[in-house]
Amino acid sequence: MKPPLCAFCRKNFRTHSELEFKLVRFKKSDVQVVKEAKLKDENFVGHPANAEWFCNEHIEHAKTHSNLTLQAYWLVVSKENDSE
Ligand SMILES: [Zn+2]
Repeated sequence: MKPPLCAFCRKNFRTHSELEFKLVRFKKSDVQVVKEAKLKDENFVGHPANAEWFCNEHIEHAKTHSNLTLQAYWLVVSKENDSE
């Protein structure tokens, strides 16, 4: 499991202990489903590829888009940034 670090703003628990970090699980892409099935066979336990940490400033945004795959989510984020 990765240490808490907001995937959105890159703040982490050490430098911003006032923030709360939560893991958001996104929809798995087909590639991830296949990969995880393979890893399960090998008894691999690691950070789920479809999950990312978010601080409490960005958790709501991430949660409202967790029906997307992570890849699709970052596309949404970059489009939103472009339109500003
Ligand atoms: Zn953040």
